[in-house]
Amino acid sequence: MRLVPESDSMPELRKKTDILFETPGGDDPLGVLKRIYGYSSFRGRQAEVVGRVVAGGDAVVLFPTGAGKSLCYQIPALCRDGIGVVVSPLIALMRDQVEALKQLGVRAAALNSSLSRDEFLDIRRSILDGALDLLYVTPERIVTPGFRDLIGDSRIALFAIDEAHCVSQWGHDFRPEYRALGSLADLHPGVPRMALTATADPHTRDDIIDRLRLGEAEVFTTSFDRPNIAYEIVERDQPRQQLLRFLGRHKGSSGIVYCLSRAKVEDTADWLNGQGIRALPYHAGMDRALRDAHQDAFLKEEELCLVATVAFGMGIDKPNVRYVAHLDLPGSVEAYYQETGRAGRDGLPSEVWMAYGMADVIQRARMIDEGNSADEVKRVERAKLNALLAICETAGCRRQAILAHFGEGHPGHCGNCDTCLKPVETWDGTEAAIKALAAIYRTGERFGTGHLIDVLLGIENEKTARFGHVGIPVFGAGKEFPSRTWQSVYRQLLAAGLVTVDHGAYGALKLMPEARAVFKREREIRFRHDRPTKGKAAKGASASSANARAALQGSDVDLFEALRKTRTEIARDLAVPPYVVFPDTTLVAFAKERPMDEEEMLEVSGVGPSKMERYGDAFLKVIRVFEG
Ligand code: ADP
Ligand code: ZN
Repeated sequence: MRLVPESDSMPELRKKTDILFETPGGDDPLGVLKRIYGYSSFRGRQAEVVGRVVAGGDAVVLFPTGAGKSLCYQIPALCRDGIGVVVSPLIALMRDQVEALKQLGVRAAALNSSLSRDEFLDIRRSILDGALDLLYVTPERIVTPGFRDLIGDSRIALFAIDEAHCVSQWGHDFRPEYRALGSLADLHPGVPRMALTATADPHTRDDIIDRLRLGEAEVFTTSFDRPNIAYEIVERDQPRQQLLRFLGRHKGSSGIVYCLSRAKVEDTADWLNGQGIRALPYHAGMDRALRDAHQDAFLKEEELCLVATVAFGMGIDKPNVRYVAHLDLPGSVEAYYQETGRAGRDGLPSEVWMAYGMADVIQRARMIDEGNSADEVKRVERAKLNALLAICETAGCRRQAILAHFGEGHPGHCGNCDTCLKPVETWDGTEAAIKALAAIYRTGERFGTGHLIDVLLGIENEKTARFGHVGIPVFGAGKEFPSRTWQSVYRQLLAAGLVTVDHGAYGALKLMPEARAVFKREREIRFRHDRPTKGKAAKGASASSANARAALQGSDVDLFEALRKTRTEIARDLAVPPYVVFPDTTLVAFAKERPMDEEEMLEVSGVGPSKMERYGDAFLKVIRVFEG
């Protein structure tokens, strides 16, 4: 029996769990799930994955964020003989995972370059003694002779390669070190190997199987839908005010605001602090220690807005991120899904929001073009940009459009995105489209939207005069609409693939062959009405927001707050993030179910004997006060 923690700092636990361990089932996966994690059943396809790996098979696990991938390797590691070795790309986050496992009474350690000699020797000793269940290692370390020496003759239960999309050049987080992991098949024959990721586009999936030599593995996928995440995408108008309104719906919770540049990260964080919202910046140009401190604060604090470039986020598994905002267009639909997917891992309602404008599209197109990738790669990049734009401009359900991108059918009308909650009206834009396209054609396909709109509105300025555009047939032909409407028309023409941004010519718009049919009136065009930007956008979305309290009513809310306070105190004493003590979902369950003794508390999802022993009393006291 290797599940009972051996440490003599926990003699009490041993006695208590001995009773629990008499339940039938020894080291069976379901028993481990119940006893160690305090969960009553597996979710989705977890049980199948676990069954396959416990039996010694390989597995590729493609589940969305929050689906519960960690249990898919942790439980087989606990059920099989030997050490479960987990490859994880980020040292900073291994520590938190190890800490969370220790809280559960699982014997875990992380092997990384920040270890002192003594710490290293400690790990080595526990390996020799067979006193380690899980070992986290970086990809560069695991294929070294040093690692093989360390493991020696000890048995390896399995290899779990987390964030496995890092192996693919097509993915957004490519890490060359991941390439070497294919050799694990030769270095440790017969040990089951698993690859896990939340990125499942077919290209990346094939790369993972190929590069990691997982041809024999069974591939497990589930729906990528994240029903608890509400999507909203707005036209950028007054970005700071828009952001402030969005953040106003999330007082008391933590989230991430993504910006494209480091300077914008710094400026936005400064500005938010000036507005009374506690915000910290994070980007790769910051001093390392400061960056780590900000990440740490984000993991530990409960009301903090982290303003970051995309350098932040991979491997962050804070379960109670309640919102993610994008102030700039993300890199691709995949990146958008990954970044927004960091919200709501605990399954509670969360909101993601993006503000974008034409300037983003032009800038992105230029970045692609000026990059030094091969033409083939640039083509892929442009296609990715267009796919993202199509989602931004859709008048239909956002969720349906996003999932369609990943090849998954969804009936639409999800009821939890801005377009579903407040259907966008569309208008017959055929005439407007013809004018907008004609403006491009008549000016020689050499100008960007700013100039094209000046021409349509008939504005006489230096540029329209210099290029001889004053007086051409389209000059002033679009006076019936304001500039904003024309901006929206051009964005939607772009999203519909009727025009393209000329990458060589500073954002000039060019016609695509498909535009012919519009000119010839063979194709009707409908545009979405942009929403008014003043006031509260997408009211419905805010109703379905935003934090754990939303799931509670009446005095349950007060009890939840009291429990949260207790959790904060315990977490601070232990210097761990609050969710390591108990996740929000467990506190919500305490507030609703109000367990009055240890037995009842052990029934609550997320309470295992180890946590019961450590914190149970503190929380029971609070509940008893409320039940008075
Ligand atoms: P992923 O790595 O897929 O993003 P995690 O492994 O971090 O997801 O799991 C997300 C959350 O769901 C965690 O808080 C985890 O404890 C919880 N969880 C996972 N499996 C179950 C289950 N079978 N029952 C209840 N909660 C679960
Ligand atoms: Zn929808």
